[in-house]
Amino acid sequence: MARDTRVFDIINKELHRQREGIELIASENFTSAQVMEAMGTCLTNKYAEGLPGKRYYGGCQFVDEVETLAIERLKKLFGAVWANVQPHSGAQANAAVMLGVIKPGDKILGFNLSHGGHLTHGSPVNFSGKFYVPSFYGVEKETGRVDMNKVREIAQREKPKLIICGASAYSREWEYAVFRQIADEVGALLLADVAHPAGLIAAGLLNNPLKHCHIVTSTTHKTLRGPRGGVIMIGQDIENPMGEKTPKGELKLMSAVLDGAVFPGTQGGPLEHVIAAKAIAFGEALEPDFRAYQQQVQNNAQALAQALIAKNYEIISGGTDNHLMLIDLRNKNVSGKQAEAALVRADITCNKNMVPFDDKSPFVTSGIRLGTPAVTSRGMKEKDVMQVAEWIDKIIMDVENETLIGKVKAEVNEYMKQFPLYE
Ligand code: PLP
Repeated sequence: MARDTRVFDIINKELHRQREGIELIASENFTSAQVMEAMGTCLTNKYAEGLPGKRYYGGCQFVDEVETLAIERLKKLFGAVWANVQPHSGAQANAAVMLGVIKPGDKILGFNLSHGGHLTHGSPVNFSGKFYVPSFYGVEKETGRVDMNKVREIAQREKPKLIICGASAYSREWEYAVFRQIADEVGALLLADVAHPAGLIAAGLLNNPLKHCHIVTSTTHKTLRGPRGGVIMIGQDIENPMGEKTPKGELKLMSAVLDGAVFPGTQGGPLEHVIAAKAIAFGEALEPDFRAYQQQVQNNAQALAQALIAKNYEIISGGTDNHLMLIDLRNKNVSGKQAEAALVRADITCNKNMVPFDDKSPFVTSGIRLGTPAVTSRGMKEKDVMQVAEWIDKIIMDVENETLIGKVKAEVNEYMKQFPLYE
């Protein structure tokens, strides 16, 4: 077949969009060239249902090698005792965990979606809210933070089988040790979903949930800077037997239950080309300069938050411990939808986001979420994100001024030339 220029032309346009703009979507990042290279290899051709050494197809000797390498590197990175690197995404990882460790109709307790939680933690539009019975904890109106006494109260009242900590738009540290105490008090399993801060945790800049939680899931493509995908890990609870029995009548270990919940429970053949890319990303994350990168992500987030606070922007909880911040725009009389659209017209990409106790719908919202992993991968430092804050403010204060937006866009495009991407 002739080269499909139609598709490659579209891909090229996307490359230019990524190069010329400022990427502030907190869940996005730029992988290394070798991570992308691995995804475009012959490994995509291989069927490998099962696990390394235990496959349902022949010819798996090399994908076995690469998957084993990915598992070993991931375990080392987080201090996990067991890991499965096959989940196709973060949502798939969470689906597998729930399928494995709880039963339909069981109660789960997660972080409120409208306070920054994720759909897979019990939203009624997601499998997790349809097959299980969810209740939620949230943040306090005054502090914008999770109050662990409230979490304990709700857990004791609801008696969930599974408690989930972790979020998509929460800028503060998680008290995993206290979550574990609460889980033990009510007889629940504890899942930490670190999809967002995984890179900062791997670098030792935030608390490590593997020391406390029964199970940890993550995406691999956000702060961790790998290919799109998910993972599941176990730390100290590796010996935990589960209700399910083996054919010999022995209780299955949690690791076996989770392996089975990924395949055949929720997925078919693993994406070995992506698993190879995960192995590369985990290898990169084990290098000393990954810590420096994550430190810069955190420093940039703090500098951006401070610059916006100085311009009278309301950051939920008053700042950030990680790579992101949630901004309530109600004092600026602009909706999240208007702000996102105006910023995108200036090639500054972010997403509208509900803020806690929002009075607007999820399609309009009162806020935006900003994150620094992607701009930090481009090479931005504190002084650069302070310049970004200037542009954001100019646009938000005048969202309909197309002349101004056009002028900022030209400045942004010129500025980004100093941060080359995939040359
Ligand atoms: N969990 C959390 C906390 C997330 O923020 C996300 C994605 O935004 C996911 C899970 C789902 O990840 P994916 O989009 O890879 O399915």
